[in-house]
Amino acid sequence: MKIQLPTPLRQYTGGAASVDLAAPTVGAALSALVARYDGLKKHLFDDSGKLRSFVNVYKNDEDVRYLQKEATPVAESDTLSIIPSIAGGSATEVAADAVALSHEEIRRYSRHLIMPEVGLEGQKKLKAARVLAIGTGGLGSPLALYLAAAGVGTIGLVDFDVVDDSNLQRQILFGTGDVGRSKLSAAAARLRDMNPNVNVVTFEKRLSSENALEIFRDFDIVADGTDNVPTRYLVNDACVLTGKPNVYASIFRFEGQASVFWAKKGPCYRCLYAEPPPPGLVPSCAEGGVLGILPGLLGVVQATETIKLILGSGEPLIGRLLLIDALGMRFRELKLRKNPDCVVCGPNPRVTKLIDYEAFCGVVPETTSAPGIPEISVEELKALRDREADFVLVDVREPHEIEISSFPESVKIPLGKLPERVNELSTADEIVVHCKTGGRSAKAVQFLRDAGFKKVRNLAGGINRWAEKIDPTVARY
Ligand code: ZN
Repeated sequence: MKIQLPTPLRQYTGGAASVDLAAPTVGAALSALVARYDGLKKHLFDDSGKLRSFVNVYKNDEDVRYLQKEATPVAESDTLSIIPSIAGGSATEVAADAVALSHEEIRRYSRHLIMPEVGLEGQKKLKAARVLAIGTGGLGSPLALYLAAAGVGTIGLVDFDVVDDSNLQRQILFGTGDVGRSKLSAAAARLRDMNPNVNVVTFEKRLSSENALEIFRDFDIVADGTDNVPTRYLVNDACVLTGKPNVYASIFRFEGQASVFWAKKGPCYRCLYAEPPPPGLVPSCAEGGVLGILPGLLGVVQATETIKLILGSGEPLIGRLLLIDALGMRFRELKLRKNPDCVVCGPNPRVTKLIDYEAFCGVVPETTSAPGIPEISVEELKALRDREADFVLVDVREPHEIEISSFPESVKIPLGKLPERVNELSTADEIVVHCKTGGRSAKAVQFLRDAGFKKVRNLAGGINRWAEKIDPTVARY
């Protein structure tokens, strides 16, 4: 059997996050654990040998208090988790008693300490709190920076990306010198510089159904800053299953939305959106664009909600969906209700463990092309152009994108106009279709094939790959 340990206790196990041992019951397992790691004993048990009240033990996903307590039998395949309890209005109320502030911290947080709404007690809660930010992009950047500045003691970051120059328009965690560097190492360095009192914990991996519950376990609050639908459902379900609040925001062009989904106290994301949109209906920011300051606005809303949850004060966005229109600078609010038939947070949940979210959302992984769509590489296109082969190049991007980069000879028909302008093309011609990165042009190829075009191919990677691999004088965006 495996015993999972929370981060604060790992200092007593030589850094081990989990320990394997054999024991017939929960009580026997804990005794064997403290026999092996003597330093753990006083953290788990009081002087009379009783399990401390703020230590909860879970067998798999069940709190042993609702099973047979320390007499609960355990099998070889079970996992026991030691979870410091989360109680009351504040996510970290109990743990705050155990922390102290140094003189340096008291000076640093003086503007908080003189506010009665925060004060010394609130600042200690912030220090004891553990917040997990999913993604260090446009939303995660301001979120993590403000949480670090405010003195949130432990900030977890999940990302696997590398800083790209197109990130710098909004991802203020990174500077020009970080381009090409791992986002997490750049982010951790920036946050430690912002506030060396913060413990930055990095998870350099894609959040998945296999790792989400284990990563979430050590945190009090999860803030979702991802920009894709499958991860949004994954974060929601993992939060519902682990009982954690999910501080949510999403952005597109000039509009954003934010809420706090916390199934214990209100609706979850699935109560709002039971079903994902069909793939391709909601464009990502990479396709549709986003005003750079918008994630700043929404990320700060997330940071504010997170800090309110930690302090246990104010009126959180639970059961409310905040809509922000930055062009009109209008803020609206919708009431959200808990769906009594919600498949994950309702009384009769059908989703009781994490599922395959890519399949649930009907997503084709980005790295593989859509099945059955014939492709041409940028190198092959270069060969065709060099020998002035007889073919028609079709650009299905929007006019404002063509101002950035284009092939002079291409026929320019935006994807949305293709059905009405398809008669400008001939089924007799050899056709190559391109867009920015290959997604929209794949749809165009599918459409043309359905319309009877046989000799039509998609330019893999789009004009951006052409700029990258073939012609550096073409702008990449
Ligand atoms: Zn729900």
